[in-house]
This record gives sequence, C-alpha cells and structure tokens, in this order.
Amino acid sequence: MKHANVALFVPHEGCPHCCSFCNQRTISGAVDKPDPKSVESACEIAVKSGGADPKNSEIAFFGGSFTAIDEEYMISLLESAKRYIDKKYFKGIRISTRPDCIDRHKLEILKRYGVTSIELGAQSMDDGVLELNNRGHSAQDVRDASGLIKDYGFGLGLQMMTGLYGSDCDRDIFTAEELIKLRPDTVRIYPTVVLENTELARKLETGEYTAQSLDEAVKLCARLLLMFRDSGIKVIRLGLHSGGTVEDGYIAGAYHPAFRELCEGEIYLQKMLELLRGKDRSRQYIIEVGKKSLSKAIGQSKRNEKALKKAGFYCKIKSNDFLDEYEMNVKEL
Ligand code: SF4
Repeated sequence: MKHANVALFVPHEGCPHCCSFCNQRTISGAVDKPDPKSVESACEIAVKSGGADPKNSEIAFFGGSFTAIDEEYMISLLESAKRYIDKKYFKGIRISTRPDCIDRHKLEILKRYGVTSIELGAQSMDDGVLELNNRGHSAQDVRDASGLIKDYGFGLGLQMMTGLYGSDCDRDIFTAEELIKLRPDTVRIYPTVVLENTELARKLETGEYTAQSLDEAVKLCARLLLMFRDSGIKVIRLGLHSGGTVEDGYIAGAYHPAFRELCEGEIYLQKMLELLRGKDRSRQYIIEVGKKSLSKAIGQSKRNEKALKKAGFYCKIKSNDFLDEYEMNVKEL
C-alpha cells in the first residue's frame, strides 16, 4: 500500500478580498472548478492506483478559502469525499481556509463530513502588514480561529509568508513566535513571490516594494525552520511548489525549486561556522556530520564548502555513521 493523497484545487472566484500577492482573479477562469463527480473520479484514480494507505493518505481541498465558498457547493464536495473516508480508503480530509471564515457553524459541518485537519493562511501576525497587503483579517482572527479549531479537535495547520510588503526580518520572526504560541500541528512557510497581475507587481514597478532576495529569504527561513523545530512543530512545506502558476507568472522574489534544501544547508553552514569560531585559520579541518546530513552540510553546488573557504577556513566535510542530524565534530587535518 502506498501513500496516495488526493489534492483538489478549489478556486474562489467570489473572493471579496484582493491580497497584494494573489493572482487568483486572473487564474480562476483558467482553472476547472471541481464538482462532486470530479472529486469521486480523483478518489477512484488514487484508490485504483494500487491502493492508498488509509493510515497516511488524505483528501485535500486546497486553494485557501474552502469555508468561504458557497455552503451548498462546499457540502456537495465534502459529501463525495466522505464516501471514501467511510470506506476507509483515506484517513481524513484536509482543507485550507482564511482565519476570518471559521465559526462554530462551519466547524460543525466540517466535523460532520470527515474533515480532520484545517490549515489557516495566517501569512503575518502583524496587523500593519496584514492591512498593507489587503488581507482583510487581523492577527486576532488567526488566534480566535486557531483556538476554535483546536477546541473542536481538528488538526491545526498554519501558513505564514516572509518578505511581504511592509514586513521585515523582525516582523517575520515575530509572526513565527506568535504562531508557535498557538501550538499548531504543522506549519508551511512561503517566502513572497511576486506574480504578474498582482498589486505587488504594481508596487514593484513603482519602487514602493522591494522583493526579498533569495539569499535573504534563505537566511531568514533557516532561522524560522529552527525555531519551529525547536518548539516541536513540523514544518511540512518551505517555499512554493515548483510548476503551475509560479513559473508562468513569476516576476520577482525568493523562489527556488529546492528552497528547503537551501535553508537546511544554511543551518549546517551556521553551525559549522559556530564550531570553527576562534580556530586557527592557517590549519586545515575535517568536519564530520551524520551520513544523512552530508549533502545538506556540503550544500548545493558545494555552496557551504565555498562559504567556509570565503570565511578563511579550509575544511573537508565527511560523514560519520555515529552522528545524528545536526550533530558534528571538528578535527584538525
Ligand atoms: S489569497 Fe486573498 S485574494 Fe487570493 S483568494 Fe485568498 S483571500 Fe482571496
């Protein structure tokens, strides 16, 4: 049995908001809305592809505003999906939505139809940043919705963005701190990417907005990743998925198809520099890391080896079977 998630994109044509980074208005027409039949066929395909592992597989409705769509339409999609939950082909349903579109009535419907996890697009916990980016909700909405979701016994996922208009490293770190306080089960971190036909694209053109560079985003997101990890919170996504709307409409911002790997590499680089602090630069060193960590420690295209050299240290990075993730030893060569 294999892991076979079903992911269905639910565009929200009627969205009354106009978030600075969103191009859903321009892409909505180009995306087919799922209907109960298409939910059924997507589930059938997953089941027939060799059998989904019911312990690990989910049906996911993503798009960001699931509970804001027409209630009758939302229920029709859930009814279709629930049949496959009842047959025990999937462990549950995951949806993503806005923090201001959660209330007791909606949560009761979601519970009734087998939804197990709810992800909220928090994006920032700074009210000024939320307002500047036309999010249409406050940080308190994120706190209130998260509390309700947990009270009803759903799994809670939170999404945040870095490098939004009006934000900076301190505000993004504050957002991560506030999200940690809400004790989510999972987190997704998305550095802002400027897509064509968005408010951010216009602000970029007029010089009102400067997009975060890839390097800045990697340094910041490596720090955020450690913050969540140290708090026992799983970061299930770091950086936008490649393909789809990103590659079509990309104008600027921190986008890399292997963004998470770059961040993991940065964590190793910082740890290695810390271990080398104060050491004699005229000597040569061997840095040992766990076997599974070797490629992250060396970095993409030997990025970290080059950075160590630039910092004046000549080092060879080798694997040691007895070391765990993030453990390392430094020896003189
Ligand atoms: S990101 Fe903002 S504008 Fe786009 S669909 Fe979601 S709420 Fe609406």
